[in-house]
Amino acid sequence: MIRIPQGVSLDPQTIRFLEQPQKMLIGGAWVEAKAGQRFSTLNPADGKALSTVPLAGKEDVDEAVAAARKAFETSWATKISPAKRGRLMWKLASLIQRDLQVLTELESLDNGKPMEKARYDVLGSINHLQYFAGWPTKIEGSTLPAGSPDKLVYTRREPLGVVGLIVPWNFPLLMAVWKLAPALACGNCCILKPAEQTPLTALYLGRLIQEAGFPDGVVNIVTGPGEPTGEAITRHMDIDKAGFTGSTAVGRKIMEAAAQSNLKRVSLELGGKSPNVVFADADMAAVLQSLHWASFYNTGQECTLGSRLYVQRPVFEQVVDALKASAEKLSIGHGLTNPDLGPMISEKQMDTVLGYIHSGQAEGAMLALGGHRCEGDLAEGYFLPPTIFIHEDDRLKIVQEEIFGPVVVVSPFDSQEEAIHRANDSRYGLAAAAWTSDISRAHRFAHAVKAGTVWINGYDLFDPAVPFGGYKESGFGREMGRSAIELYTQEKAVWVAL
Ligand code: NAP
Ligand code: MG
Repeated sequence: MIRIPQGVSLDPQTIRFLEQPQKMLIGGAWVEAKAGQRFSTLNPADGKALSTVPLAGKEDVDEAVAAARKAFETSWATKISPAKRGRLMWKLASLIQRDLQVLTELESLDNGKPMEKARYDVLGSINHLQYFAGWPTKIEGSTLPAGSPDKLVYTRREPLGVVGLIVPWNFPLLMAVWKLAPALACGNCCILKPAEQTPLTALYLGRLIQEAGFPDGVVNIVTGPGEPTGEAITRHMDIDKAGFTGSTAVGRKIMEAAAQSNLKRVSLELGGKSPNVVFADADMAAVLQSLHWASFYNTGQECTLGSRLYVQRPVFEQVVDALKASAEKLSIGHGLTNPDLGPMISEKQMDTVLGYIHSGQAEGAMLALGGHRCEGDLAEGYFLPPTIFIHEDDRLKIVQEEIFGPVVVVSPFDSQEEAIHRANDSRYGLAAAAWTSDISRAHRFAHAVKAGTVWINGYDLFDPAVPFGGYKESGFGREMGRSAIELYTQEKAVWVAL
């Protein structure tokens, strides 16, 4: 029996799902791991187990790959029309919509995130599937004016084959769908591995994939940790591509594994340390409305978090005071009670963040808010409050490294040149934002900053039509939009002698 806060109730379907022993989806069947191993997934708001899931070993991944290869060769890429692929994807989106409440509750329980934010994620998944459901019928090749007139030369965009999709725990369902949707639209068959901390919504999605009528083996879902499960995917000789979202450290391992196995294609969405730059001429009301979310959304466990805040000196105090005041008002608690912020995903992640906070203090940054584990009613979960550091030294570890918690480092600057230089002083380059009412400055900043996404007078805006991905050590490859179609297809040139 799972524990939930007083006064909260769950959809009976959520309870039924949690009461059943979970299995993995391989070749259209729900199976245990061959070695019989299982592990628990817990709710980080109270550290209590929610369910157990199979721990897939290499032999299970082998079976999933064989099922995916068979589906690729015998049905998905050869017998199912592009229009039918699109219809199946649209059907899946409708089933997610039907079970919105159940998926929201499962996501909130497994990850800890507030109900309203979990709901955004599920709605985002629907939006994403619907956008990509329109693509299968629009993937085109071209004819080329090449060779002599007695030659016909054309190109085809073909699927890659079997793709391994490895996703993190911070937006579990949404990240899974970000990868599945373009991969399926292009005609690939998939092995999905959710993060070990958050397997539940992926497994629920597996049921909906079956109900929608996808042929067996088109999507296989294996649960387990990075080692052995993730590694069995990235080292596999019959997987054509590994699509990964996660840390830069694991991204390196994935490239190594690809290099040492079959040179599978790799795309990497990695970490970030995104600069959020406020110029003195900005619309302050708009800045202040967005700032606490840019700094602390998802309890800071977000790859695009505006974790480096630079504020032009004339408005520095005003902005810091306002950020402190709004951060103090953010409610923290169990996801099902729909606070502003939920817990950290795990004790380990909480300890990592506390380590960074101690390092910031030891290195001489000024702690302006937060900095300690939450106590009282929140003591049994992994809760940290919004934490603000003020500093003037970009060499500090807390300024250079991704913390992945509710910690923002704030620093004053004087000129536009200084702001751009400091924004780029990072090994990461995922996103950046500037707030200004000077249109030329806005575009100068957008062009000069080395990041895959730049927001002007806004933060954390996403749409399935807009490419997303990193510069520098934030990875490569662009998900979403037309770019994602390129990521999950390969081009073939055909020469015909007439
Ligand atoms: P992580 O440790 O890199 O894990 C990501 C995924 O990789 C998980 O499914 C993990 O499995 C798996 N994995 C771990 N070691 C592996 C290995 N040797 N081979 C294959 N797979 C392996 O990252 P995380 O802690 O889950 O997420 C936090 C990080 O992700 C942050 O750095 C954040 O910036 C980044 N992130 C980036 C984006 C983006 O779009 N750029 C989005 C979200 C998160 P287990 O967890 O089960 O071990
Ligand atoms: Mg969990």
